[in-house]
Amino acid sequence: MTVYERKPSVARKFLMAGRGGLNITHSEPPDRFIARYGEAAERLGPIIRAFPPQRLRDYCAELGEDTFVGSSGRVFPKSFKASPLLRALLARLFANGVRIETRARFEGFSESGELLIADASGERRAIAAAATILALGGASWPRLGSDGGWVESLAAKGVEIAPLAPANCAAIVEWPAGFADAFEGTPLKTIALRHGDERVFGDIVVTRTGLEGGPVYALSSSLRRAVAREGAAFLHIDLRPSSAVEALAQKLARPREKQSLATFLRKTLRLTKLEIALLRLCGPLPDDAGALAERLKNLPLAIVATAGLARAISSAGGVRFEELDADLMLKKLPNVFLAGEMLDFDAPTGGYLLQAAFSSAFVAARGAARRLGVDRGA
Ligand SMILES: Cc1cc2nc3c(=O)[nH]c(=O)nc-3n(C[C@H](O)[C@H](O)[C@H](O)COP(=O)(O)OP(=O)(O)OC[C@H]3O[C@@H](n4cnc5c(N)ncnc54)[C@H](O)[C@@H]3O)c2cc1C
Repeated sequence: MTVYERKPSVARKFLMAGRGGLNITHSEPPDRFIARYGEAAERLGPIIRAFPPQRLRDYCAELGEDTFVGSSGRVFPKSFKASPLLRALLARLFANGVRIETRARFEGFSESGELLIADASGERRAIAAAATILALGGASWPRLGSDGGWVESLAAKGVEIAPLAPANCAAIVEWPAGFADAFEGTPLKTIALRHGDERVFGDIVVTRTGLEGGPVYALSSSLRRAVAREGAAFLHIDLRPSSAVEALAQKLARPREKQSLATFLRKTLRLTKLEIALLRLCGPLPDDAGALAERLKNLPLAIVATAGLARAISSAGGVRFEELDADLMLKKLPNVFLAGEMLDFDAPTGGYLLQAAFSSAFVAARGAARRLGVDRGA
């Protein structure tokens, strides 16, 4: 078995995911887990169940990397890193006789169905494979290797592909002068974000160009659509989601005495400098306690864009499930199986992306083994 990888080394995106601690899966109950895949849940459900989160955790442990459940239910390796797991995985592949050829780019199929593999100089070879698993990723962070170049090759074979679009991406804000210098990298903790009817809780962080973090990523598809439709979108921040507006207003109505409003806000509601600066973005702070409480609960922030594919965590779109059988084999290209982000699904951050990549890889590999008559039973 040979793995062809276009970059000089494998798994660059996996290693990049490791920089954030490698949230490999999630511990929530199976039905809730599967529902996170939205429209693709029905097709991904059996795939996730074939290699579920606990199986992935057991597999990591077998490779010497125990995992743990964080406070949010998300699962991480104890080392918080991707590299030890990758090293163990590669060692296992090599022990099983797998070869890895790097700087080897898949460029489609020949007329007679052979794989066309190009080396760094662009020279092509045709390779006859008994079975092929394509796991070429989506199109986000193309500098890490996955550039969606496969779309053309599969479309040329009549395979239906939903257009690849950025998913789980940052929101771009035109911060006023000095704001990013003062607050870049500062977190906003336990807040809620709302766009339209969608409301998401969690932590986010200010970046030079806007906002990042799970709740922002979760709203990024609907923000992207609103920006495309209307030129901008409003994100509403609730800085104190666990307090009702009336309760906040009551606290804010207390006598301020000689304190400045900023000091009063810091002392009364433990507002941070960043939170106070955000409240000031839409005009001077109101003196009225009720109006100030309203602003705290429903702070509008103009989003001018969402980050593109170059910086998105994942991409939505991909090969439509109708093109695949239950083993993830392409109906139009027998013996060619698909896994990972090439499939047409979108999921939030929280471990759902890597779990889908591992589960679909398992199902595709099991399917290929069955076709080749080397299935050892899974
Ligand atoms: C910054 C960042 C952080 C992330 N953090 C998390 C996280 O914590 N948890 C989570 O669940 N997900 C996370 N993700 C998403 C997750 O990493 C991806 O969903 C996952 O890596 C997809 O796996 P894949 O195998 O489908 O594709 P990829 O990991 O992209 O791998 C595809 C491989 O195919 C190679 N390739 C592409 N085209 C060709 C070609 N034509 N010929 C040969 N080789 C080719 C690429 O070079 C690449 O090595 C993160 C992503 C990013 C960018």
